[in-house]
Amino acid sequence: MIATELQDILFGTPVPIRGRVNLGVLSKTEVNVVVHGHEPVLSEMIVLAARDKELLELAKAKGAGGINIAGICCTANEILLRHGIPVAGNFLQQEMAITTGAVDVMVVDVQCVMASLREVCKCYHTELITTSPKARMENVRFIPFSEEAALTAAKEIVRVAVMNFPNRRKVEIPREQVDLIAGFSHEAITYMLGGRFRGSYRPLNENIINGRIKGVAGVVGCNNPKVKHDSAHVELVKELIANDILVVQTGCTAIACAKCGLLRPESAAQFAGPGLAEVCEAVGMPPVLHSGSCVDNSRILIALSEMVRMGNLGKDISDLPVAGAAPEWMSEKAVAIGQYFVASGVFTVFGVGLPVAGSAKFSRLLTEDYEQVFGGRWAVEPDPARMAALIIDHIRKKREKLGISKAKERVLYDMEMRRELAI
Ligand code: SF4
Repeated sequence: MIATELQDILFGTPVPIRGRVNLGVLSKTEVNVVVHGHEPVLSEMIVLAARDKELLELAKAKGAGGINIAGICCTANEILLRHGIPVAGNFLQQEMAITTGAVDVMVVDVQCVMASLREVCKCYHTELITTSPKARMENVRFIPFSEEAALTAAKEIVRVAVMNFPNRRKVEIPREQVDLIAGFSHEAITYMLGGRFRGSYRPLNENIINGRIKGVAGVVGCNNPKVKHDSAHVELVKELIANDILVVQTGCTAIACAKCGLLRPESAAQFAGPGLAEVCEAVGMPPVLHSGSCVDNSRILIALSEMVRMGNLGKDISDLPVAGAAPEWMSEKAVAIGQYFVASGVFTVFGVGLPVAGSAKFSRLLTEDYEQVFGGRWAVEPDPARMAALIIDHIRKKREKLGISKAKERVLYDMEMRRELAI
């Protein structure tokens, strides 16, 4: 939460912004710099360096039409949300990006960087650059990145890419790319729902109470090589929105759903249930909201706190008709984030399996006993259809407990009734 707040102070709070996603965002005619990892300071500086006049001139001199930045993993999410920079792919696409033969530099910092990248790069002209002293690779170019000399290092990285452009061999870029809208920070959601003067979560709470929206699910996290790429994310999210559950996302799952077009406002009519579709169409938002990188999950928890504060949906996050899920989790930090959700009172389902399943006692603590302590608990369910059923059932039970499970009869007031109300 502190990291997200500080990044928003440094680089700006995200607001809804257009972007594009999938390998088709790589350019055949321009220098491609792919940023990969997690540190937004690095990617912000690379975006700046790519606009440098001198480097643009150099790119032209090398026969390129310009400098194209694209992202992989959560660095991609950071610069997508703040600058609309296109996303080449999520975790399981990092090697594929190199195999297009169009990536002139892949620059990495920390986390989720496959050790195989060095070997894959050897088969192509791609220059791999590491930047963090904590995560160097043997026989890979290292350009140390520090806050003090950030722009200088960023310019050096972009220069390496420009100089490498003429070394391209066979280039094969898939045509696939999809439009999306991202940038739904808690502040942006507040503004979107109530406008500048009435910004609040009241419209969301009211639509949950009247049943148009049944609840909210935070679907977050990674790709996992044990799961068919993106399949668990997409299947789960489609099922949830079809059941009128608004989905808020962070991390590689948002990239997965974006590739299927779920992050476009027009997807509401195609995929969402009638109630959710009605709200999305009225507000002009997609049924799946992209809130940031995988470390921005605090945005979802702030939104939940705001729903409690707004009233009529219980007194604690654990009273809300909400749930969390990480269908293809891979990184160990996903477990820490999952525990953050559970300890905040959210029912949280993980796919794949948890490495503690060998202990029946510990598993019982996580999946049952925690509920008495936190109001939230863990569940493990690798099958996305069954995971959706668990979440839908949990939200139904919470609605029953709040006394909002039955649709209220709609009353059309005539003038006489209105006068009585006014008295
Ligand atoms: S969501 Fe998971 S795989 Fe993707 S960048 Fe974050 S930690 Fe890595």
